[in-house]
Amino acid sequence: MSEHDPACIFCKIAEGKIPSRKVYEDDEILAFHDINPWAPVHFLMVPKAHVPSLAQAGPEHAALLGRMMTLAPKLALQEGCRPYPKGGYRVVINTGDDGGQEVHHLHIHVFGGPRPWAKG
Ligand code: AMP
Ligand code: ZN
Repeated sequence: MSEHDPACIFCKIAEGKIPSRKVYEDDEILAFHDINPWAPVHFLMVPKAHVPSLAQAGPEHAALLGRMMTLAPKLALQEGCRPYPKGGYRVVINTGDDGGQEVHHLHIHVFGGPRPWAKG
């Protein structure tokens, strides 16, 4: 099975076929600014390999997800979120229709910066 789904927009971003405003990249992970931000800081973190959602995450993804979660605070500060506890950020994984997931490639939203935000 291919690592990438040719119909998936985040796979295309991960492959560099669609441009993005990059925040971070390594062998397994890409982070880029959300195209429609609703907080002063709003970026997405994705595995480069196609995983449709958190519902498909298994033991083989545990290390990758752990790396993503521990990277999120570092990137949040790098992108201008203020430090915990006065500052902070929100880390969200929308999953499935009831979870509000629109792009079916697992992604972590990181929201932050001074309020008010457009949503949330
Ligand atoms: P979700 O509703 O959790 O699936 O969130 C999908 C997010 O992807 C939304 O916040 C969109 O604004 C964002 N998005 C969609 N297309 C792009 C793109 N080409 N570049 C950056 N962000 C995108
Ligand atoms: Zn994908």
